[in-house]
Amino acid sequence: MNFIPEFTPAALAGRQLAGLKWTVSHAYEHNNFYRAGLEKAKVRPEQIKSLDDIRRLPFTTAKDLTSEYPFPFLCVPLEKVVRVHASSGTTGKRKVMTYTQKDVHDWARMFARCYQMAGLTAWDRVQIAVGYGVWTAGVGFQLGCEEFGAMAVPVGPGAIDMQCQFLEDFQSTVLGCTASMGLLLSEEIKRRGLSNRLALKKIIYGSERSSEAMRRKISEQLGGAELFDIPGLTELYGPGTGIECQAHSGMHYWGDYYILEIINPHTLEPAKPGETGEMVVTSLCKEASPLLRYRTRDLTRLLPEPCACGNLFPRHDRILGRSDDGIKYRAVNIYPGQVDEVLSQETEVSSEYQIHLERRDDGREYMTVKVERRESSSSTENKALEARISKAIKSKMLVSAEVELVDFASLPRSERKTQRIFDSRFE
Ligand code: ZN
Repeated sequence: MNFIPEFTPAALAGRQLAGLKWTVSHAYEHNNFYRAGLEKAKVRPEQIKSLDDIRRLPFTTAKDLTSEYPFPFLCVPLEKVVRVHASSGTTGKRKVMTYTQKDVHDWARMFARCYQMAGLTAWDRVQIAVGYGVWTAGVGFQLGCEEFGAMAVPVGPGAIDMQCQFLEDFQSTVLGCTASMGLLLSEEIKRRGLSNRLALKKIIYGSERSSEAMRRKISEQLGGAELFDIPGLTELYGPGTGIECQAHSGMHYWGDYYILEIINPHTLEPAKPGETGEMVVTSLCKEASPLLRYRTRDLTRLLPEPCACGNLFPRHDRILGRSDDGIKYRAVNIYPGQVDEVLSQETEVSSEYQIHLERRDDGREYMTVKVERRESSSSTENKALEARISKAIKSKMLVSAEVELVDFASLPRSERKTQRIFDSRFE
């Protein structure tokens, strides 16, 4: 069955304009917060005549979601709502989104496209090792899998023994996980000597930024498994709104369900083509909680060139970080993703690292990057390697850092998201 429609760029733009008009008028008619925002911006729904008119709409943010708690942006009567999901907000109130039956079905169709794009068939068995519950992850992977017609093995996160047992007994061919869990499980499979008894061929992973080095490591430990990065935001349905294709250069996104803009997070102006900026999304047919120019805080860039795989859906790069996880260090904004990039160029180190920021007795800020040596590394030239990484950080990030090599597997692994930044400067 084919889940991926074909759109010419012109047909897609037509679809987007119709969806934009519908969404603006739906939000204006049915939600006081949206109506007030649009009135303040002096925009009426009938004034949306072209895709460029999206720039007249006000932005919305995570703060709006929490101030409108518990059912922010709600645009349908509650009797039409069949489900809520919430994200694991770090502080205060969670971000809650509501779904109608159509919203749930649209999401499942989008996720089914993802499985198709990753080359799955009805014969595949998808072991789902992400969180179930109020989060969108587990249920998203599962609904999409059932819609697509493959077999879901819903294990949830953690449970390493059960994961290994089911991978072997059920011969699961695909694993859905976070990058951290992928690394942890692949190391465990290698340690237990299981890899030649498994049928695992593909890893669909998401929800946290991952480095090239981490991807390589996971793939190698699983005997060359193919990795697919999947973006996902609770605010925009959940995981499955796009996926890396088999050409493995960026991610196609389902532009018939939402418009993606990239803006400069400081000036709020559109980023230049191909320039990195903050992803802003506007939903096109979301009924219960539509999004108007929602600032995701995720940093990425559009990839305007045609994709080698031939699919015409537009593409963005992998998520390079979050505009609010940039850290000010000695007056420079640094992002963990930049350390990922530096380490990915080094063959003598693993993918795991930690960034420690502290203020010492001299009153100045210091950054120490702890980096794991490669597995079974016999290198004795620690000082030279540390100096080389430190120099690369200086040239890439324009800041000084002390680099400290530590033994392989000495930094903690996580089943969810790995903490990489330890900031004690303000304690
Ligand atoms: Zn492609």
